[in-house]
Amino acid sequence: MTVSETPLRSVLVTGGNRGIGLAIVERFVADGHRVAALSRGGDAPSGALGFACDVSDAAQVDAAFKAAEAEHGPVEVLVANAGITKDTLILRMSEADWASVLDVNLTGSFHVAKRAARSMIRGRFGRIIFTGSVVGLYGSAGQVNYSASKAALVGMARSLTRELGGRGVTANVVAPGFIETDMTAGLGEDMIAKYLASIPVGRLGQVDEVAAAVAYLASNEASYISGAVIPVDGGLGMGH
Ligand code: NDP
Repeated sequence: MTVSETPLRSVLVTGGNRGIGLAIVERFVADGHRVAALSRGGDAPSGALGFACDVSDAAQVDAAFKAAEAEHGPVEVLVANAGITKDTLILRMSEADWASVLDVNLTGSFHVAKRAARSMIRGRFGRIIFTGSVVGLYGSAGQVNYSASKAALVGMARSLTRELGGRGVTANVVAPGFIETDMTAGLGEDMIAKYLASIPVGRLGQVDEVAAAVAYLASNEASYISGAVIPVDGGLGMGH
């Protein structure tokens, strides 16, 4: 088999019922893969299976994986994409604001990566892709919790690369910039104008542009890419 031939895989995407995660699910479905979408809501687009699961709870993650794997076989491609924000300046950031964002964005990603790793090692194949953010490495006022959670995913992907690289498992971070979704819909016009001024490409990003990078990292063509941070940000972070 050449590197350009990607077999059809068992794919699991967290946060797969809207926004970037939904676009990722739709892309994998369109490419013919067997796709499970996890979210608290539990819904999924046609062609994918949806499972209700709060990723911050390891027992719920285990149950959702069991249900998905019963239909699709062991997860070969994991996209840890579920994420939330609780933005405020540090002096106003409560313990709960900090903990809830870390619980979903970081601990949730740990839960799904750990749950997927065993069968990936056994199968000697795996693709783990975390949805990070440009602000993970760039920083962002008002997002101490969120940017810390996203920066930590880089350490997780790189450590997984060192642990699992010899077993055919890659781990990478896709770092979107400003993408038009529910998460960014709440930002005021002032804030959007400020972002636009610092995006060299001169526009906001679209969800399918993130999905394309994820699909590439999941493909056989990306077999030799691991521990990388792939920006999809119109140049906002200049490679960070
Ligand atoms: P949305 O708010 O549109 O979607 C978030 C998704 O995460 C939903 O599917 C939601 O489903 C799910 N989710 C939230 N909490 C949990 C939880 N505890 N357990 C399981 N699922 C959960 O966000 P985006 O699509 O914009 O963001 C997707 C990812 O991309 C996030 O990690 C975000 O940080 C990242 N990102 C987004 C950027 C942007 O500009 N939009 C920029 C950079 C990064 P439900 O509510 O049903 O649980």
